[in-house]
Amino acid sequence: MIPKNHPRYESLMTRELIVGGIKQGITSTQGLIAQGRGEAFDYLIGEKSTEYALRAEKVAAAKLLLAQKPVISVNGNVAALVPVEIIRLGERVNAPLEVNLFHRTQERVTKIIAHFQALGARNMFTKSDALIPGLGHERAKVDNNGIFIADVVLVPLEDGDRCKALVDMGKTVIAIDLNPLSRTAQCATITIVDNITRAVPNISKFAQELKDLEKEELQELVKGYDNKQILSQAVDEIKKNLESHILI
Ligand code: ATP
Ligand code: MG
Repeated sequence: MIPKNHPRYESLMTRELIVGGIKQGITSTQGLIAQGRGEAFDYLIGEKSTEYALRAEKVAAAKLLLAQKPVISVNGNVAALVPVEIIRLGERVNAPLEVNLFHRTQERVTKIIAHFQALGARNMFTKSDALIPGLGHERAKVDNNGIFIADVVLVPLEDGDRCKALVDMGKTVIAIDLNPLSRTAQCATITIVDNITRAVPNISKFAQELKDLEKEELQELVKGYDNKQILSQAVDEIKKNLESHILI
């Protein structure tokens, strides 16, 4: 048992969720390493949702509401960390979930789908009858009615290659990635540099606030969004935090 007053309670509990996901067979062992890399960056940005992350989260909510065919891509880490929250977000913005794995096995795909359905997900794309062009076969598999034809895709914790392939297909790609230097962060249309455990509830909250706005008002909100600027603010934040900790 991790005591609630432990200074790293949140972070340790998140690790427990990932370990639990591995035990359940929904998270890959490589998912542990991805989480570790994410944690390191979270430490450097101060383990908080910064102003630029909140800006990206609000624009992401607006983009999802404006989309014709939005889809939320989920993997083993998402399934372990924020399953209920991502189902709620999907319902708010009318975006079905689709399992899309880097280390894909049919067994794990089936388990993740069952995990989400047991938690109440009603709207999921479950076929793998299309291929994203330009990627190796297993990693490219998607649903012909889902990610393949989606106009806006939310891809939490995505791999850089696939993020680029989705952008190359002309899609608006919203990434959640704590590393502002990763290829995913650099190539996504909107990059949310925040922990998925904070980002998903934040996007949901914004979606709730924005859902009754007119289309034109949502478009106004999205106008002028500059992802390069968001990424450079994230790097500046890391620099600032490092400088304030230098011992002299
Ligand atoms: P890329 O392929 O985009 O260059 P990478 O190879 O460094 O990235 P991957 O293992 O492909 O990384 O994907 C994991 C990414 O997810 C990392 O950039 C990591 O920072 C991020 N990440 C891991 N856990 C979280 C989390 N809980 N919240 C947000 N981001 C996370
Ligand atoms: Mg990668």
